[in-house]
Amino acid sequence: MMRPEEADGTSAHSQPRCEIEKTHLGEECQRPGEVSYKGILLVCAPHAALLQLEDRAEAVLGSVFQMDEWLEENGSSGAGEEYLRRIRHEREEALAALRLIRVQIRSARKEVLQ
Ligand SMILES: [Zn+2]
Repeated sequence: MMRPEEADGTSAHSQPRCEIEKTHLGEECQRPGEVSYKGILLVCAPHAALLQLEDRAEAVLGSVFQMDEWLEENGSSGAGEEYLRRIRHEREEALAALRLIRVQIRSARKEVLQ
């Protein structure tokens, strides 16, 4: 991927900057871009960690919603009791994981601000 060079022509600017402002976070970041995020953006390590955590939280939340839907549709019908219990247990574990990820996101946000 080519990027336009700085107009002043100095080669000191050849190090790409973190592209976090192109994400939903829209933040400005002066750190160098070092890590490829989804193969589209180049971001600094702290922002890469934050984005990955947010993606994981979204994925886990999505699975919780799916389980909720499934339980709503099948919870009172003839689904096996054992199977229902397993889904509920999985849902609990997903929520616990989500809580942990949210704590990690909070500290990742602090890292980004440093
Ligand atoms: Zn950054």
